[in-house]
Parts: sequence; structure tokens; C-alpha cells
Amino acid sequence: MSQVAVVYNPKKISLEKLTSLFPESKPVIAKDVRKGLVELGDFSRLVVAGGDGTLRIVVQYLMENHLKTPIGIIPVGTGNILARNLGISLDMDQAAKTAIDGNLKQIDIGKAKVRSRSPIFFTGIAGLGLDAKIMEKTDNRLKKRIGWVAYIEGGIRALPARFQKFNITVDNQQPRRVKVLTLMIANTGTLPGRVELIPDAEVDDGNLDVAVMGPRWIWNWIDVLGRITWQNRFVRPLVLGRKLMDATADLKSLEYLRGRKIKVESESESTLQIDGDPIGPVKEVSLEVIPKALVVSC
Ligand SMILES: [Mg+2]
Repeated sequence: MSQVAVVYNPKKISLEKLTSLFPESKPVIAKDVRKGLVELGDFSRLVVAGGDGTLRIVVQYLMENHLKTPIGIIPVGTGNILARNLGISLDMDQAAKTAIDGNLKQIDIGKAKVRSRSPIFFTGIAGLGLDAKIMEKTDNRLKKRIGWVAYIEGGIRALPARFQKFNITVDNQQPRRVKVLTLMIANTGTLPGRVELIPDAEVDDGNLDVAVMGPRWIWNWIDVLGRITWQNRFVRPLVLGRKLMDATADLKSLEYLRGRKIKVESESESTLQIDGDPIGPVKEVSLEVIPKALVVSC
């Protein structure tokens, strides 16, 4: 078989385990991805063993080098958002098989541009406001121990959250002015814990989906999470249910937008997170979708 390159996060998976899964490979540590992959030479499959952050490093490498090498994913992170959306098993041995023998699927990639920085590529979700604050405040040790629940704890510490005013421009439409607690721009729709944040978001439809969330306080935030999971799973399949949901949406606490290009401007600086990594305070970010830019074995 042609060569498999493995990129991993040593904090999430041991070298011993990796070597048992891929005996022929010489695993490369994610932070050394450039140097490591150049040294490896030719490879026809790239396996990513880590969380969403590790995946982002690899995707960044592929996009910057205009490579379309199929990737496989061993999801050993906290969120594993892309893996979950693609139905990749969280069991390492199963995921290792899929990484090599799965069906190849072409998926979209998000591209975020902040000021003069080079573009940041992502597969999952970019967030501004409370969402990004949660990622920034979440304790890493706690994250490792209790997983996704740690984000909730981070959320409580991110409070008191405040409303922020954003101007959102979708494609060539008129900018919309919104006052929100958090804003998420998604390539994928499902969050960990089966939270169907944006139920219509598809990873290969050539669009980014925006969720505009404006709950007033933490109990509203929890209420919004409750509504999202509950309503989307049970009510949403019915068009009538969807209409009912829209009609009863309290204080426009949740609204969806969709497009190829999304520009977000805020009056004051707002914290930005991309695929769970804090990027820092920004006043403007431009996001766009690059259709079918990544090939994943799933
Ligand atoms: Mg999409």
C-alpha cells in the first residue's frame, strides 16, 4: 500500500498507540507539521490523530500548499466536531480502519480573514462573543477530564456576558444590524453532545450557515441550548413545526442566515474563536466557503 503519513497531538494520543494502529508510519507531531511532512516525502493518505485544533493545523497546511491529499481522522479531542458530523467512530481502532478504507467524501472548508493576517482555514465553527469567551476561559485540564461539559463551566466563568452589536453582510445583500450574545458561523451544524446548532448546515453544500443568538442571560442561554436540541430533533422535520418554531421564537433569540461570504463587523472588539481555538479580539472578520476543498475518508 502507498505511504500513510500520520500527524498527531501527543497530548491526546500516545506514540505507542499510534504505532500499533499504523505500524508502517513515522508519526509527525502536529506542531512540526511542515518540517515533518517534507521530511517524509511522498504520501497518498494523511491521518490526523487529535482534536479539532490538530485538524485545523493539518487543513491549514493542505490549503496553503494547494494539496488535495485525502485525510483520515482519529478523533481524540474534546469536541471532534468534523468527525461527529461525518459519522466517524470515536473508537480509535474503528476510526483507524475508516481512515484508510472509508469512502472518500469531498467537503467544504471555511476561510477566515482577520486584518492583514494570513487566512485561517477551518472545518467546523467560527464564533464571536460569548461562544469565543467560553473557549478562551475553558480550563484545559478540566476539558481533558470531563470533556464537553467543561465548556459549560467555561461559559459560567465567561459571565457577565454583554450584548454586542454586529453588522453582518451575507454575500451582496444589505448589511444587517444585530444585537447578540453570540454569533456562530458554521461549516458543520452539530456540536458535541448532539447539540444540533444549525440543523440545515451541510458540510458540502457550498454555504456557510450563521446562527445569531441573542439570549438575555445564562438561563436563557441554557434555555436556547434546550430549545435547539429538543426542537430540532423532534419538531424540525415537520415544516409546520419549523413555522411554529419561528413564530414562537422568543425575542428573536435565535436566527439563521446563509451564504457563501459572510462579513462581520463589530463596534467594539469581540473575541473570535475558530474551531475551538481563541484567535483574539477582532473588530472585523471576513469568512468565505471554499467548496469541496478537502477530501476525507469517512
Ligand atoms: Mg455548509
